[in-house]
Amino acid sequence: MSIRNFAIIAHVDHGKSTLADRLLEMTGVITIGKHEEQMLDRNPISRERGITIKLAPVKMKYSPPVILNSVQDPKGIPNQVRDDNSEYTLNLIDTPGHVDFSYEVDRTLACVEGVILLVDATQGIQAQTIANAYKALEKNLVIIPVINKIDMDGAEVEKTEKQIIDFLGVPKEQIYRISAKTGVGVQAVLDAVIEKIPGPASVIPMKMGIHEENSIDSRLRGNDIMGGGNDKKFSNLKALIFDSYYDTHKGVIAFVRMFGGSLKRGTTVRMGHSGGDFIVSEVGMFKPDLTPTETLDEGEIGYVATNLKDIHAIEIGDTMLLPKENTEPMPGYKKVKPMVYASIFPTETSDYLNFKKALEKLYLTDSALDFSGIYSTALGAGFRVGFLGLLHADVVRERLEREYELSLVLTPPQVEYKIEDGKFYEPIVKIFIYTPEHYTGAVMKVCEEHRATFITMDNKNQIALTYEMPLSELITNFFDRLKSATSGYASLDWELIRYEFADAHKLELLLNNDPVEEFSEIVVSARAQEKGYFLTKRLRDLIPRQQYEVKIQARYKGKIIASERISPFRKDVLIKSGKVIGAGDVGRKRKLLEKQKEGKKLMKAVGRVEIPKDAFMKLFNKQN
Ligand code: GDP
Ligand code: MG
Repeated sequence: MSIRNFAIIAHVDHGKSTLADRLLEMTGVITIGKHEEQMLDRNPISRERGITIKLAPVKMKYSPPVILNSVQDPKGIPNQVRDDNSEYTLNLIDTPGHVDFSYEVDRTLACVEGVILLVDATQGIQAQTIANAYKALEKNLVIIPVINKIDMDGAEVEKTEKQIIDFLGVPKEQIYRISAKTGVGVQAVLDAVIEKIPGPASVIPMKMGIHEENSIDSRLRGNDIMGGGNDKKFSNLKALIFDSYYDTHKGVIAFVRMFGGSLKRGTTVRMGHSGGDFIVSEVGMFKPDLTPTETLDEGEIGYVATNLKDIHAIEIGDTMLLPKENTEPMPGYKKVKPMVYASIFPTETSDYLNFKKALEKLYLTDSALDFSGIYSTALGAGFRVGFLGLLHADVVRERLEREYELSLVLTPPQVEYKIEDGKFYEPIVKIFIYTPEHYTGAVMKVCEEHRATFITMDNKNQIALTYEMPLSELITNFFDRLKSATSGYASLDWELIRYEFADAHKLELLLNNDPVEEFSEIVVSARAQEKGYFLTKRLRDLIPRQQYEVKIQARYKGKIIASERISPFRKDVLIKSGKVIGAGDVGRKRKLLEKQKEGKKLMKAVGRVEIPKDAFMKLFNKQN
């Protein structure tokens, strides 16, 4: 079978989407100079921020121009024997690099036989390089290490090469050097994909009652032995769902990797885990737009249109099977869970229904999103929304505001405490930091100040540190502080490991003696005083003067621990530094009045105290 299923993995910004562009050009999917850069990254927010947030599959056809010399790979995987003029189907999945979206990488790696591991020569190996490479190693995937951006002035090719040799234990000759931007060296990488990554193997037929453990790995092992052999007669349908979205015309569209069998329009399919049946209304491939085909065969990556109206009928990680075949579904993925929560309210109460609709729509395209309705006396009806991390929260807010033209108020994202018998338990994460040796002391200091517990330190080319720390510490500026302590050189990866008892209580914020739920949060004792001062001071600065005095207090365990006041507002905007703006200055006067009106629109009356939307937003980040 001349199929190669592979992904590009890397730390954020190391050039994955740019390399994908070159591969798409070389295989004629797109025309040089006639497409946008980072073509697979078509989400507008992705494009603006230059951060990929979704996986993106694409199918390419490729006929290698020459027969390459056979080089034995260190893992002992035999190279594919290739005929002259043979045509290959290449299924590539571009992945996001940011840790918030690592779930996209997990799902991608379950669908491919190999990866291109890209390392930016100006940055060297970074935290997600390591985290993603480990994921690929665990899954027994073939790794093609590639050094990118060799065209840049700051490129340290030799140094990066040494890091890769130390990390992966591969010989120098197996590391490719490219510029994804200019295209230098990319041909050799494309050839390596064909030479080194095995084609998909057939699924060993399932006998009834035998549960195949970790079928992806055993399939790969099978492939090592059989070199991509395949016997169609015996392969039952097994289509692993690795992504999905809702299309208004075609219903739920599932992205699948065909581990066995074949699918076409009209096939009745059963979901292996959830049990529901549906009839396939269309199958096709990503070119990169959805393009219908007759069939979707074993080994391929493609999509299945279901006509289902509810996205939740199809679960990511489930396996499509044939009802009569009695096949075990594949193990699927660990379910993704939100890590931080924020309450979101529309600035205009009348926008509530629009907001609800927008969230529901967004939910259809973002399986990581989680939300439930809440009501706040101050802010009205809203939703408590769960996110994968701060970047995810930011992206969702921006999508809601932009795509659905909503104006929103967000409470600062917080972790979720578990409460049992009146005791609080907080989420603890394991963090992994990669930093130049020179900054080790500074990094350790930042970690200690964030209640982190040292676990290990490893010294190769750079220092690799692992700590355990409360997630609440990670989301309060930890990454910013880490970056500034290391002049931007440190990189970070993290994962949730457990919940732990915490001496935590509710810190209440009072405005003129009324508790304001939206500014109150659960805080550990160690942070209560500092947080109390911070909140009262910030609000003093953020809440504009009113016609009456405003008293701002923080209460913890029944005691007032911090207090500020804002004296009453007496002046009109038209009185500046004691002078009334003259009648002649009409333009300026109008401008000021307009500004005042504009400001009013953004105000949210909390009790009697007017709080600008900005005040809520700014509480997002301590350093704002
Ligand atoms: P991704 O986050 O890994 O997908 O990275 P992108 O493909 O979005 O690239 C990040 C930035 O690096 C973009 O501004 C690219 O133009 C730039 N870039 C990528 N590859 C190269 C390269 O080989 N040389 C140079 N000079 N810039 C590159
Ligand atoms: Mg990208």
